[in-house]
Amino acid sequence: MTHGFTTRSLRWGPDEGRRDLGPAEPVAVPIYQASTFAFPCAEELAEIIRSGHDAGYVYSRWHNPTRAALESVVADLEGAGAAVSFSSGMAAITTSLAAVARSGDHVVFSPDLYGGSFAVARKILPRWGVRTTIAGSHRAEDFVAAMEDGTVACFAETIGNPTVSVPDLSALGAECRSRGVRLVVDNTFASPYLCNPLSLGADIVAHSTTKYLGGHHDLIGGVACGSRELMDEVREMSVDLGGTASPFDAWLALRGTATLALRMERHCSNALQVAGYLEGHPKVARVWYPGLPSHPDHRTAMSMLRGFGGMLAFELADGLDAGRRFTEGVRLAKMAPSLGGVHTLVIHAASVTHTQLTPEERASAGIGEGLVRVSVGIEDPEDLLHDFEQALKSA
Ligand code: PLP
Repeated sequence: MTHGFTTRSLRWGPDEGRRDLGPAEPVAVPIYQASTFAFPCAEELAEIIRSGHDAGYVYSRWHNPTRAALESVVADLEGAGAAVSFSSGMAAITTSLAAVARSGDHVVFSPDLYGGSFAVARKILPRWGVRTTIAGSHRAEDFVAAMEDGTVACFAETIGNPTVSVPDLSALGAECRSRGVRLVVDNTFASPYLCNPLSLGADIVAHSTTKYLGGHHDLIGGVACGSRELMDEVREMSVDLGGTASPFDAWLALRGTATLALRMERHCSNALQVAGYLEGHPKVARVWYPGLPSHPDHRTAMSMLRGFGGMLAFELADGLDAGRRFTEGVRLAKMAPSLGGVHTLVIHAASVTHTQLTPEERASAGIGEGLVRVSVGIEDPEDLLHDFEQALKSA
């Protein structure tokens, strides 16, 4: 019998912790805070090193039992053959792209991306000889229009930054598959609870475990998932590039993942209430939330996601100063970057996260001067609405 999502999020393996405990089994995953593993026999150690990273634990940049437990849970939740954990979401993304694209290849990126992924597209990959194009929009036809001879991969976010756009991953996956192009999806905003991009045609799914998987604002980490063959390539790359997760951060991510379903349900219901409240507020010109019929991607979100998530953005009618005043005026919510944790976080795009763009560039990306991004936490919804109400008075 296949277990449900929450049950699977509690089932980790391999259970290396049992080895010296007789019949006893640790219920929580032990933290193997060891950089290296000692062997009594040189031949045995040499054999494990010769046979590759799956053969046993030797050195924690290659493999570590706590990381392996996290990888087994996330691979299962994403419906993947295997997963590789990283020291950050960006390490998961750059290592995955380095595994699929070589010098001379071409990669197409969605325009609705986290800034770090933009930097990879605009600065890092071109320095490695990989050509990149930012598609005209997150629609599949614009990805296709941006493809060239030598296109090997497309990169998109399940729910994009900051206007929470939702690309049709089934359509994009089908276009990629018919051309032999790999689809790499950053599933951070959605988490595996809301969407499994591999089932829609993606080849690699990356997460920043810093966000919903960890869920408590206390770790930096990442993970990539896909077929075993592809993940063998990603793991080999990660061993050499070195962005592997520490055992303790992997443990924190695993501990967070155990409650992902419970937290996501609360994030989704809180966000829907906050979005509905903001949509009716006279100082708010526009709300971006895929759960609202007013969002341009609402229909795609309804068919692709198992809920609409905890991320939203809204535009204050009075522009830049109002956006800044709102984010400085919240008391329960906190003004901070990052997202996906138990606390509600707010941030103003024009004065904090998107200052590198001119007002015109922001406008063409759909980011108005008064745009505030909200990562809705798991607080009691009436407390959150009360906090937003008082902050809007001063905005
Ligand atoms: N992907 C998305 C959508 C993000 O928002 C972020 C960070 O905010 C990252 C990736 C990078 O994650 P990390 O900070 O863990 O490297």
